[in-house]
Amino acid sequence: ERRPLVAGNWKMHGTRAEAAALVDGIVRGLRPNAAAEVLVCPPFVLIPLVAEKLGGTKVGWGGQNLDPHASGAYTGEVSGPMLRDLGCTYVIVGHSERRAYYGESDEIVADKFGAAQAAGLTPILCVGETLEERESNRTETVVARQLDAVMGKHGVDGLARAVIAYEPVWAIGTGRTATPDQAQEVHAFIRGRIRSRNAGIGGKIRILYGGSVKGGNAAELFRQPDIDGGLIGGASLKADEFLAICHAA
Ligand code: 13P
Repeated sequence: ERRPLVAGNWKMHGTRAEAAALVDGIVRGLRPNAAAEVLVCPPFVLIPLVAEKLGGTKVGWGGQNLDPHASGAYTGEVSGPMLRDLGCTYVIVGHSERRAYYGESDEIVADKFGAAQAAGLTPILCVGETLEERESNRTETVVARQLDAVMGKHGVDGLARAVIAYEPVWAIGTGRTATPDQAQEVHAFIRGRIRSRNAGIGGKIRILYGGSVKGGNAAELFRQPDIDGGLIGGASLKADEFLAICHAA
């Protein structure tokens, strides 16, 4: 009943020519009967080109970040309404790189989450622990804090139109993926926490896994009962590799 979602987070990669070739390859190779919903999240400046190419196809597009404000004197920022105007349907919020390199607190992430929904975008809320946090048995504490910051501000009802991505920081870009059991354990924890507040929303929300997902390990991850697809970094930059992941869902 939960349709899997496979989303490519391109991060800060790509020229216009590379982006065009990548989306062409994805559209050409995506099987018509693919079970998964497929999404790409390019850098802002490539979104118009990608939107042009993907309009009328089954592949959607979204942003990697947004400003909490709808408009105003915020030099260098991009808002939810701007993304929506470009046809984006989703936006990633609270990616660990934003939290670590751009000082995004749980509170800012919760504001961005609300701004996304106010603009008609579905937020993909990223949560996940660092290696140090995992090794000191704080994984659940950290993930609960990140989740509760959003539920505290927007209520559990705020999660009715949202996607969660569990991305252990130590698995991002490292080639060291969480084992299917490790990931499933945290996904079940996240779902349980939401379910304890609202059984319907907890049962319906899609929880993606992210962190070194590849064509070769996607199927065993996606087979876990509480893993509903993936948020893919490096492997989303090659059409064949990304398609293999899409087709594993
Ligand atoms: P990698 O797939 O490159 O590990 O990145 C995961 C990620 O951060 C997706 O948002």
